[in-house]
Amino acid sequence: MANIVNILNVFYRASGLKINIKKSNVFGVGVISSELDIMANQTGCLVGSLPFKYPGLPLDHRYCSVCCLEFAHKRLTNAQNGAFVGVCVGAFVFEARADFCIVNNLESIRLRFFWGGSSESSKMAWVRWEQILASLEKGGLNIGSLKAFNMALLMKWKWRFLSKPEALWVRIIKDIYGRDGTGGRYRLHKTGVWGNIVDVCNSLNDTNIIPHSAFKKVIGNGLSTRLWKEVWVGESTLASRFERIFRLDINNDCLIADRLIDDVWHWNWSRPLQSSRHLTEFEDLISNTSLLVLNDKNDSWSFSLAMDGVYMVNEGRRLIDATLLPISESPTRWLNTIPRKVNIFLWRVALDKLPTRLNLSKRGLEMKQISCLSCNYGIESLDHALFGCPIAKQVWSRIQLWTNVGLPGFDNWLLWIAWLDNWATTTKRKEHAYSIVAAYMWIM
Ligand SMILES: [Zn+2]
Repeated sequence: MANIVNILNVFYRASGLKINIKKSNVFGVGVISSELDIMANQTGCLVGSLPFKYPGLPLDHRYCSVCCLEFAHKRLTNAQNGAFVGVCVGAFVFEARADFCIVNNLESIRLRFFWGGSSESSKMAWVRWEQILASLEKGGLNIGSLKAFNMALLMKWKWRFLSKPEALWVRIIKDIYGRDGTGGRYRLHKTGVWGNIVDVCNSLNDTNIIPHSAFKKVIGNGLSTRLWKEVWVGESTLASRFERIFRLDINNDCLIADRLIDDVWHWNWSRPLQSSRHLTEFEDLISNTSLLVLNDKNDSWSFSLAMDGVYMVNEGRRLIDATLLPISESPTRWLNTIPRKVNIFLWRVALDKLPTRLNLSKRGLEMKQISCLSCNYGIESLDHALFGCPIAKQVWSRIQLWTNVGLPGFDNWLLWIAWLDNWATTTKRKEHAYSIVAAYMWIM
């Protein structure tokens, strides 16, 4: 414990950030309380007890604890609709692979919240949760799954590991688990934090969602890239593609800058290349490497699946969700100028997932009557309520009068949208027409 206090002192001298030991707490996990008292006495810290809050989030010795779940539940139950996504994203940043059960639990809390339920009661869910999570292009509401979010966050550590090789933590990991962080002197345990991250990256590679080859080396001065053992040209290492001559390099751990000096390759073989196999491989190697020109920038990394070459959690999450979540036939129509709740309402209209009398009776609810209360004539289906009912028809004709647009009359949502899409006019006018109809349907 005295060493920890010394390290904190060194940290203060190096960074200028002073840690007030008297205001700090020491927490014990698997330690008896008398031992904890001794440690607190030695350091001058207070004895803390679990769970505690940091920063504002309840934490205990497990990564995603039960108290964290309860906290989320309370936040979600009290939150207003608009805060939905924000709260979910803000409340959970998993530091390790969250287990299956916790993710499922959190998803079911979100699901209940989405449909207006609470911890005590759940309401009828009209659309599969997985579909709601999917992106707009895939017919969902672009909420994104927590599983993908968790994996994408862990993947960010791989990106940091690659792009910040000078960071202290990266140097420590490399010292323990080798240059690529996946083994080395020690066995990598999946239960450890780093082992967990490597495991997630491997599983995303195996399923071809985010393959290892998506992270590409961009060669600058060639001073931090091993010529043979790192992937910098093509999809695999030169060592694996040119095995025979790789073995003949005097130093097959060499850097690119060791071999490419002033735009000329200086090969250094342990014996001359004479056999035809060696010479063929060498010719191949030359054609693979001939285009490389060094510059004075440091070697860096690029994420080839992102437009700007930078790995972002949102992009990672999108890629993972695009594979894991179901795909609907038609993309979700979303207009930023109308309120989110109206957009969601219209998405449900398009899917015919609103509690009309017909839909409720289809779901097994006992209804006294399923005919329309307004006209007492047709069955109260969505098509009837919004298009076929005499009252609906009146509103449509008023819209036609008011906008002076020749609406041909529609029987259902699909026909109206097909007409709108084919209407030969500007996008702005189409958006206005859509907004007017959206307002009418929302009020109906
Ligand atoms: Zn009616």
